[in-house]
Order: sequence, then C-alpha cells, then structure tokens
Amino acid sequence: AEGRGPTLRARALHATYAGFKALNGVDLDVHPARITAVVGPNGAGKSTLFHCLAGTLRPAQGHIHYGDRDITPLPAHTRTRLGIARTFQQLSVFPTLTVAENVHVGAEQGRTRNPEAAEQALRLLGLDAVRTAPAADLPTGTLRRVELARALAGQPRVLLLDEPAAGLDTAEVAALSRVLKALAADGTALLVVEHDLDLVADLADVVHVMSAGRVIASGPPAHVLDALGAQETPV
Ligand code: ADP
Ligand code: MG
Repeated sequence: AEGRGPTLRARALHATYAGFKALNGVDLDVHPARITAVVGPNGAGKSTLFHCLAGTLRPAQGHIHYGDRDITPLPAHTRTRLGIARTFQQLSVFPTLTVAENVHVGAEQGRTRNPEAAEQALRLLGLDAVRTAPAADLPTGTLRRVELARALAGQPRVLLLDEPAAGLDTAEVAALSRVLKALAADGTALLVVEHDLDLVADLADVVHVMSAGRVIASGPPAHVLDALGAQETPV
C-alpha cells in the first residue's frame, strides 16, 4: 500500500446563493481510513458543502485545506488531480461512451493516470461483463457503479459521494456498502452525504447532522442518530 493520504478540512465555511446563506460557518474533517457521513433535512446545505469541498462552488468565506495545502481557490479538476474524487447526485456518465471508456476517462483525469487502475475499478464494481455496452443503455444501478468506478480509477485519496444510494435496490445498497467499507479499510477518506439513515448507521464512523447551513450535532452514529430519533418522537 502507498500509505494514507491527507485529511480534508473545511473551516468556517460560508456559502451564499444570491444573498441567501446556504452555509453559515461549517467546520468538518474528512479523515483517511474513515467514513464520515453528513445527514440532515432537505435544504440543510449538505450538497452546498459537498460542492465547496469538490471545488464546484467557491465559498463566500472560510477555507478548505488538504493536508498542509490551502485548496480553497483551486478548481474542481485540479482537486481531482490532487486525489479528491467525487460522484454526482445527478448521474453524469458520458452516454455515447462504453462503460470501459467512461472508467478510463476517470483514470486519465485522476491522481495517478494509471490505466491499470481503471481495469481494477471495473473489476471491483463488477462491470467487466458490461464493459463494451454504451453507458446510455444501462439501468440506474449499473450507472451508479460506472460513476463510482470512474471516480476510483484515478486512485483518489478522498472520495466524496452525494446520495450514493439514491435509486438503488436493497441488494445494490448492500453491495455499495461493502465496497465503501473496503475502500475505507484500505485507507481512503470517504465523505457520504446520505438520506438513508439505516445505511449511515451501517457505514459511518462519524456522523454530522446539518440544519439551516450549520452542523448542529456530530459523533458516532449510535449516539447521533439515536438523539435524532428521540427528537422526532412526539412527547
Ligand atoms: P441539501 O443538499 O441539504 O438538501 P442544498 O445544499 O442543496 O441542501 O441547499 C441548501 C439551500 O440552498 C436550500 O435552501 C436551497 O434551496 C438553496 N439552494 C441550493 N442551490 C441553490 C441555487 N443554485 N440557487 C439558489 N438557492 C439554492
Ligand atoms: Mg442535496
């Protein structure tokens, strides 16, 4: 193994859309070899935080550090090259390319630019059998695997996932969970924004609960998710 990569840290992040404060001072660390989850109601700012970390949205205030480096001004493609990979909530595979071609694009854009890593990712996600299929022809569950394989093909240090279980059936969620745990065990730093609290309870080492642009609670899933459940119980 190559050893662990840097920690990704958000500090005092603020983000606005035309004056509306979507993030209001968020601190969050994404550690190597851990699965960090972000949960919270619709509109809490989870995707906004995700976009700031991935580099697709510039925060109005605050900083993002990757190890010793301040990456706040760096665009998304540069962060990908440094080893911060992401998947998209709205699937974004190239429909006219085959599965294998899509995943090889991920290798070319990634940290190590290693075609063999694309082949490893195809095998890890069980995509060898459909490697020559045009991506346009495939069902959602398979496309989500293509998307994840494409991110992994660059051998990222940090993997950012926004709603990775959306549209998956129970068996697909279980398979996803196994892959993500294996990646964390291998040293990858994972951030998962997820609606499915059962999946979060199964996967996460640390959970951050967001509401109205802030992190309002953090801790191990048993602790944090039980407290959430208790809040929702009518008195
Ligand atoms: P979540 O992912 O937790 O559901 P988002 O980060 O998508 O929340 O959204 C946070 C808030 O910012 C919401 O109130 C949402 O309506 C608003 N918002 C998100 N994207 C935009 C945008 N492009 N323009 C204006 N407002 C936005
Ligand atoms: Mg969202």
